[in-house]
Amino acid sequence: MLLESEKKLDFNDVLIRPKRSTLESRKQMVLERKFKTKWAQREFTCVPIVCANMATGTFRMAEVFCEYKMLVAIHKFHTKEDWLNASKDAISASIFTIGMSDSEYENFKDIRDALFNAKKIDNPDDLFLCVDIANGYTQRFSSFIHKIREENPGIVMIAGNVATAEMVQELIIAGADFVKIGIGPGSQCTTRLKAGVGYPQISASLECADAAHGLNGGIILDGGVRSPGDAAKAFIANADMIMIGGMFAGTDEQEGELITRRFLTNELDENNQQIVDEKQYKLFFGMSSEYAQEKFMSGGMKNYRTSEGRKEEIPYKGSVRPIIDDLLGGLRSAGTYIGASSVKTFGKCGTLIRVGRQHDRF
Ligand code: 5GP
Repeated sequence: MLLESEKKLDFNDVLIRPKRSTLESRKQMVLERKFKTKWAQREFTCVPIVCANMATGTFRMAEVFCEYKMLVAIHKFHTKEDWLNASKDAISASIFTIGMSDSEYENFKDIRDALFNAKKIDNPDDLFLCVDIANGYTQRFSSFIHKIREENPGIVMIAGNVATAEMVQELIIAGADFVKIGIGPGSQCTTRLKAGVGYPQISASLECADAAHGLNGGIILDGGVRSPGDAAKAFIANADMIMIGGMFAGTDEQEGELITRRFLTNELDENNQQIVDEKQYKLFFGMSSEYAQEKFMSGGMKNYRTSEGRKEEIPYKGSVRPIIDDLLGGLRSAGTYIGASSVKTFGKCGTLIRVGRQHDRF
């Protein structure tokens, strides 16, 4: 057994050091970033925030994200019909998700061709692909990425999840343009409890970005961003993009019905009866939770697989727009505190300071 005793850092272990800045106003901060991908040498510009391919990964979300030039990883249980009915705008902000299976890969190609024939995309390579599995450490996974790259030299491909430098390098060399980083940090994830496996996100970001950038690849820091401040810390820790689920959950744009819960308050009405109040919620769940497996897979959960996700009723938040505005406002504010005129320069301009662990909620 080897024990690594260097302390690894999570969002709560660091704060951003304020610095002298020449930025006059928050409006000067550029949120968009231009990328040139390693393999296809494709250029694209976006605000580098991706909505997670959970119940939040919907075309309704993509309609809104498109206006903000942000991206949505559409969850993989959408049908060909769903894709063909989505608007061109929504598709332009969408990333196609598959797991590590040949049938899902065939389905991706089929839907991509149908979108091209229906003139929903101008070029088959315009549809970004995210190959997403819980544990990206298997040899079979990098072989799968390699096969997809060989067959699709021109697509933008994201592969994950891993959390350490050597596997980032392996996946980029195999054919990924971006590697998704995050083992265990997700709001609905129980991997750290069930398997004891994980890696704190700030250290993972710093170490994995260093590995990726040396190969002209990028990283998407996925999971654990619970506030605009966390997003700013992620970019300072050299994440090229971030992926977020929980912060966008409970909104109109998230899939799922509203759930109404009634409960007794401590107040009495004129007849001395306890007043009943109502609150609305939306169900949000991990994609490998028992709930998700029963909802999406025929035959329910296979009993040899541990469920490493949970479900939670999230208080209904209404439209996702104010949440996005708050997130982008926080990034602009962080930029003015560190003198960064763009998200791209957060890593160069910012300094993180290690602090005693902050409370989860301020
Ligand atoms: P959040 O922004 O909610 O903290 O994290 C979102 C990320 O959690 C997703 O993009 C995905 O990587 C991860 N995730 C989603 N569902 C599950 C699950 O059931 N189990 C685990 N281990 N991770 C999950």
